[in-house]
Amino acid sequence: MSDASAASAATPSAQTSPLPGAAAKALVGVLALQGDFEAHAKVLARLGAGVREVRTASDLDALDGLVIPGGESTSMSFGIDRERLLDPLRALVFGGTPVFGSCAGLIMLDRDHLGVMDILAKRNAFGRQLSSFEADVELSGLAGGPVRALFIRAPQISERGPSVEVLARVGGADGPVVAARQGAILAVAFHTELGRDDRVHELFLERVCEFAAARGRVDGAAALKRPLAR
Ligand code: GLN
Repeated sequence: MSDASAASAATPSAQTSPLPGAAAKALVGVLALQGDFEAHAKVLARLGAGVREVRTASDLDALDGLVIPGGESTSMSFGIDRERLLDPLRALVFGGTPVFGSCAGLIMLDRDHLGVMDILAKRNAFGRQLSSFEADVELSGLAGGPVRALFIRAPQISERGPSVEVLARVGGADGPVVAARQGAILAVAFHTELGRDDRVHELFLERVCEFAAARGRVDGAAALKRPLAR
C-alpha cells in the first residue's frame, strides 16, 4: 500500500481515520496493477482526496471510492487473477462504494470482466484509423461545456441493461455510447486524467463524498480542499 498524497499531507493518518471537520478526507483507491494509475492519483490528490494505490485485497479496506484506470484490460485481468482481487473488488462495488472506470477500466466493469455493471464493452471499437483521437464530449449533467476527451484504442459500450444511464455519445445523437452510469458506478471510454480538465473526476468525487458522509467518515463536500463546481 502506498498513499500517493501522503507526502503532501501533514497527517497521513487523516486519510483513514474518521476525523471530524476539515481534516477528514475521502479516501479513494486507484487500482495500480497496470496502466495510467499515477495520472489518476495526481488528479484526485489535486482535488483534495486522499489517495491510496491498490495492489492487494487489504488495500481495499475502508475506501470511499475506487478508480480503475486505463491501460490494457487483458494485463489488468491477469493482475486481478494473480492477486485474487476478483471477489474483493466485486464485494466493494456491490457494497455501494462508488467506482470510476476509464477506458480499460470501463472494460473491467462490464459483464465479461468484473461483472459489476450491466454493460458489454467492445474493445478497440474505433478501428485502426481512429485508434487514437481527441474529441469534445458533452456529458449529461456536467456543467461547463464539453470535456476534451482523449480516446486511446478506446472501447464503446455496445450493450447495456435498463438500469444503465447513458451520459455521452460521440459523433452525434446516434453515435456510440462512450460514458454511462449505473448507480454509483461511472464508466467512460476515454481519458481526461492526462489533461487539466478535472470535471469528470469531480463528478465521481461528488458520489465519493456522499458515500463517505453517509458512513459518517467525512463531512460531505467539506472533505475536498477545493469546492466542487456543481
Ligand atoms: N485497448 C485497451 C484494452 O482493450 C484499452 C485502452 C486504454 O485503456 N487506453 O484494454
